[in-house]
Amino acid sequence: MSASATTSASTASSSESDFSSRQRIWLDGELVSRAEAKVSVYDHALLYGDGCFEGIRVYNGRIFKLRSHLERLYRSADLIRLAPAYPMRDLEQAVRDTVEANGLADAYIRVVLTRGVGTLGLHPFKCPRSGTIVIVDAIQLYPEELYREGMKVIVAKRPRIPMQCLDPAVKSLNYLNNILAKVEAIDAEVLEAIMLNTDGFVSECTGDNIFAVRDGHISTPPEDAGILHGITRAFVMHELAPALGMRVEQRPMRLEDLYAADEVFLTGTAAEIIGVNAIGDHAIGNGGVGPITDTLEKAFRDRVRTDAPED
Ligand code: PMP
Repeated sequence: MSASATTSASTASSSESDFSSRQRIWLDGELVSRAEAKVSVYDHALLYGDGCFEGIRVYNGRIFKLRSHLERLYRSADLIRLAPAYPMRDLEQAVRDTVEANGLADAYIRVVLTRGVGTLGLHPFKCPRSGTIVIVDAIQLYPEELYREGMKVIVAKRPRIPMQCLDPAVKSLNYLNNILAKVEAIDAEVLEAIMLNTDGFVSECTGDNIFAVRDGHISTPPEDAGILHGITRAFVMHELAPALGMRVEQRPMRLEDLYAADEVFLTGTAAEIIGVNAIGDHAIGNGGVGPITDTLEKAFRDRVRTDAPED
């Protein structure tokens, strides 16, 4: 490593540790330091991955789609029969307070509802009170050049968990299905993996939704393909694309549809909109970022940086 690289790395890590020493985390009704933010080893979130969560972005001090994220969180909780300890408007205030307490204009928020402290058995209703955590931290992004050049992904061998077993619409603390597909991606030296459902249709990626463009038509797998109902996906479908005079159709997709596409792109809170230039050995389009992806990506960045809608 060169001397300047060493210096900038140590500067980055010291500013990170500066932040973590003054970071405030909202835990069950109180803002505490990062060192104090501890949960019990008897919390079923830890023992069984029992709980749900959200990942939210702050742009220029505005919390992008906060309401939609909170609504999805409470829907996830309902689907796993978890009773949140706070009503939605109190949690909304807690999120705003935590953002303010951390003084970051651009940030990533993690909201977690745990099942709470119980016994060593599975019984979720022996946990009297759900735990609530709000973390505000710096954002971890894909490298900038991937947005210009597109990124390569693979197709995971492991299918997405079927809706009948655990609906991927629940953003649960059980992410092992995605994590093991992500490990397949890492083993293949790429950052994302496309997951098929057990019927062989495209569902989504390990942490992003997927779109394809062919002959100017944009499409994305429907909710019944077994996907997380992405907030970024909905924003692209219902706000961003229509504002640009584009339409997005939801339709079942096979892998062959992706291979034959002119463009493929992914959407997610952390990823925003990112083009895919290859799926395994198949180049997509001309092997770069296509014009529709590029237009959407730039429009997305402009929109959230000038006026990130909170609803
Ligand atoms: N699918 C999965 C499995 C995810 O975890 C995520 C969130 N990272 C997404 C899709 C994208 O959803 P959103 O746009 O709401 O972040």
